[in-house]
Amino acid sequence: MKPKLNVLFLAAEADPFIKIGGLGDYAGSLPLALHGIVPTSEDETGIDIRLVIPFYGAIQQKQYPLKRVAAFEVPHAGGSLPAEALMLEMRGLPVYFISGSMIPADAPVYTSDPAEDGRKFTFFSLCALELARSLEWPPDIVHANDWHTAPAVYALSLIQRDSDPVFNNAAALLGLHNLPYLGAGAEQALDEFGLPPAENSALPGWAKQMPLPLGLLAADHIVAPSPTYAQEILTPEFGSGLHSFLRQRKQDISGILNGIDVNRWDPRTDEQLKANYSHEDLTPRKVNKTALQQEFNLEVDADIPLIIIISRMDKQKGIDLVPDALRHIAGQRWQAVILGTGDPVLEAAVRGLENNLPDQVRVAVRFDAALSRRMYGAADIILIPSRYEPCGLNQMIGMRYGVVPVARATGGLKDTIQDYDLSEESTGFLFDKESASALSEAIRRALAVYENRDAWTQLQQRCMQQDFSWDRFARQYLTLYRSLARAKAARQPGSSQTEV
Ligand code: ADP
Repeated sequence: MKPKLNVLFLAAEADPFIKIGGLGDYAGSLPLALHGIVPTSEDETGIDIRLVIPFYGAIQQKQYPLKRVAAFEVPHAGGSLPAEALMLEMRGLPVYFISGSMIPADAPVYTSDPAEDGRKFTFFSLCALELARSLEWPPDIVHANDWHTAPAVYALSLIQRDSDPVFNNAAALLGLHNLPYLGAGAEQALDEFGLPPAENSALPGWAKQMPLPLGLLAADHIVAPSPTYAQEILTPEFGSGLHSFLRQRKQDISGILNGIDVNRWDPRTDEQLKANYSHEDLTPRKVNKTALQQEFNLEVDADIPLIIIISRMDKQKGIDLVPDALRHIAGQRWQAVILGTGDPVLEAAVRGLENNLPDQVRVAVRFDAALSRRMYGAADIILIPSRYEPCGLNQMIGMRYGVVPVARATGGLKDTIQDYDLSEESTGFLFDKESASALSEAIRRALAVYENRDAWTQLQQRCMQQDFSWDRFARQYLTLYRSLARAKAARQPGSSQTEV
């Protein structure tokens, strides 16, 4: 048997321990999926992946049965700071929790103080590396994510300058889930932890001591959550001021889609649905539609196309385009149920729409996971008019439940939805222009196809048969890990690297 590929996976959050947003979904599911991959032949390297997250107060309260596995210190301007690592196994996956004074038990995961978060996450990043040393477990890959753990990538590059047997062979991969969050305000924290600005580097001057740019500079490879978004970040529109720099790193940037947990999101077993169903027979969906129409006091009629939105109320999501777009088509037969919270201005705008079109539109301003499932199980069309969308889960979950997406052709939406063109591949309706009329035109196209019941049912069935499972995308990560480890090993002649 070949030795396993050691992967140290760092994130600021991971479901089910702690989840604030999409990063939590990603870090809670990708390592598990990778852990579950069994080598297909004797010649293939297996994987020993270990997840590391901070031991926040919210996790401490859950009282997991944890084992204390390591204690160490990290250097700091004010004197070395002690830390310890606790551990449990989640379905066989080792998960480590880092505790120490910079990760206060009474603070939220993300505070409104960038300096405090800078200290917390720089400390955490350095601790994660120290943990590998304590465990005498040399990583082949250090996979960090977003600005919070980007300092680990930068620190690794500094450590490797002074040859270090634990880290010499480690290739660094930085996952980019939210480019606009660069970690501004953490400059001082980096300094305190001995991470200097990258003075003579290709980074623009303003970015030379910011966590994410430093990670982007030092990483062996950068991975975005969709191939299209990986290209878009090279443009001024999406590049957050780093597009010129990122263009220089173009060869080292790729995109791999995120998967969804296909067991958690399954219309055959979803307990929130009145009627479960599969792609083989969509008729039970009518029961769910009737129930939702009754719940929202809308006219009960299975033939009226039901449009939904389930989204953060944020400009990123293009919610500001929705009221006008729906007003444009108010003369047609459709109903809409909108679920979301966020920006009060956008909440007020959709409420205004509900007042204007009382027979057609209903709005629920809250976060409600159970309602979202009832909506996925009942609706015909889901609107996703995002300005930018690194990956997007909304469309994948919708498709899995037979809801046809009408979405802007950007980022992961473009990569997961095939625009309607009568072909055997179409799975939705895409539009390019960031405008209410482009959105309403796309909805019109969808409503026209809806009139042809057979064509619509086939479209729904095609959506439901798309494979968005993590298994597929985790294999792409494993291939990437292997090639990065191979490239690193090739650059280290004579070292005793893992053969991959
Ligand atoms: P983002 O992570 O940028 O908000 P995604 O499309 O990647 O967007 O993921 C959004 C997820 O959050 C989806 O699973 C969606 O169903 C869910 N969601 C968004 N808003 C709500 C809400 N108000 N109530 C319930 N679920 C919501």
